[in-house]
Amino acid sequence: MQVATGKSILNGIAIGKVKIYKAPSYEINENDIADTDGEIAKFEAALEKAIDGQNALYDKALEAAGEESAEIFEVHAMMLEDDDLQDAVKEIITGQKKSAEYAVNVAFNNQAEVFAQMDDPYMQARSADIHDIKQAVLDVLFGVDPASMQGTEPTILVAEDLAPSETVKLDKSLLLGMITREGSSNSHTAILARSMNLPTIIQCKEIDDSWDGKTAIIDGYNSCVYVEPTDDLMDSLSKKMQEDEKKLALLQELKGKDNTTIDGKTIKVYANIGGPSDIGMVQQNDAGGVGLFRSEFVYLNSKDYPTEDEQFKAYKLAVESLAPKQVIIRTCDIGADKTVEYMDLGEEENPALGYRAIRICLTRKDFFKTQLRAILRASAYGNLGIMFPMIISLRELNEAQQILDECKEELIKEGVKVGEYQVGIMIETPAAVLCADELAEKCDFFSIGTNDLTQYTLAIDRQNAKLEPFLDTHHSAVLKAIQMTIEAGHRHNTWVGICGELGSDLSLTETFLRMGIDELSVNPKSVLPIRKVIRGLDLSK
Ligand code: PEP
Ligand code: MG
Repeated sequence: MQVATGKSILNGIAIGKVKIYKAPSYEINENDIADTDGEIAKFEAALEKAIDGQNALYDKALEAAGEESAEIFEVHAMMLEDDDLQDAVKEIITGQKKSAEYAVNVAFNNQAEVFAQMDDPYMQARSADIHDIKQAVLDVLFGVDPASMQGTEPTILVAEDLAPSETVKLDKSLLLGMITREGSSNSHTAILARSMNLPTIIQCKEIDDSWDGKTAIIDGYNSCVYVEPTDDLMDSLSKKMQEDEKKLALLQELKGKDNTTIDGKTIKVYANIGGPSDIGMVQQNDAGGVGLFRSEFVYLNSKDYPTEDEQFKAYKLAVESLAPKQVIIRTCDIGADKTVEYMDLGEEENPALGYRAIRICLTRKDFFKTQLRAILRASAYGNLGIMFPMIISLRELNEAQQILDECKEELIKEGVKVGEYQVGIMIETPAAVLCADELAEKCDFFSIGTNDLTQYTLAIDRQNAKLEPFLDTHHSAVLKAIQMTIEAGHRHNTWVGICGELGSDLSLTETFLRMGIDELSVNPKSVLPIRKVIRGLDLSK
């Protein structure tokens, strides 16, 4: 048995076979080749297979997500059929006497660069498509089957690190738990792991390719991993896993009950979601609504800018299926660690302090309007809230509100029904805390994003695992900022919630209630444990 340690993201046990997950990396040979005809034949065969692959993806996406989502694969197949691109590859093979792999890499990169340099944002976005189809052809040439990277059986996935865009693409039904060498506990990948209720260990330096296929146990309570565990350990941790399941069953008795303390104070306990696929979790865990719909996952899940209709469908589905419960949709918080190639946001020295969230939306007005129109259209189907992230000033809130009003007017003129909705902002920066009084006058609610508020208050990059020893999640400056925000909100009849990870910290539930918090929005699995704590509190004491 091997014991490895790391940092636990979720108290839980996972038992299963290990699957080593690796994004494919290729070593492309630059040597001259003699048999150019052979290379051309190899390229043509790979191309044909790649086109078949895109067509198969089209069929799969059509069945799972509809025509609009599937369309991109049709476009990819057409791009692969493009004669100019094929000729460019062949020219490199015959003219420069290079391998098919080398020629594909160079010719596709050149084409991607041509698109990237165009003025039209739509054409620029095609650059990412070229990279995608290049990957598809290279996968065939190198004999890699990307679908096989996760395997077909439920496993514990082991990886160096996982980007949020990789994590969202994983098949959740095949995941028992995750172990990564890198990662930080406040990263979006960790948040996703919690919301999927997956025992996860990060910063596990001992991970090793030799674990592949072996049985392992993740012990989230003790932040360790046992590879090829002894029979005794397997017995005791299997029992612990069963006890956890029983406890979970007991919590089910709290469904349908109020979030009311012994002395009669009631608050809202909402859930955080990443998209319509999490709606079931909200219902199963009896959350009172959705306090944070991280709409950027709609963008991360997409190969290109999601259209107004695509977004409308996703928002409507959530709002309509949960009505009359409130669903608060946060406008796109892309940037920093959540990036998508098609947006071409460029490299930055300090991404967390960079071009992200509302800053992108206010400077790319058409992009913002597409989303706002989709959200407003969904407002006709239930109880909706709109929330702007990363606001640092009244000017930004006013500008966002103005664009929202403009979209509403346009829709009404077009004869489209718009319902009632609340407008709120996230309090994620010390600037927002300090301006909370003036901001509160202009909105219906505040939602405190403690993940970023902690990052910016303590000047600790939430992505940097090295800084974890300096991170005190209960730092008095953060708690003071929360208290100040609640007080400022209440001075102006603005309700105040917390949607960052601190909201689910059961050791702080009493503190937050004593501060006067109105809502806690947490990962769905934390709703009932929080209800249990609230119902046991007596604030009069
Ligand atoms: C936060 O910052 O606390 C928050 C909820 O937003 P995100 O984690 O998505 O940045
Ligand atoms: Mg945030």
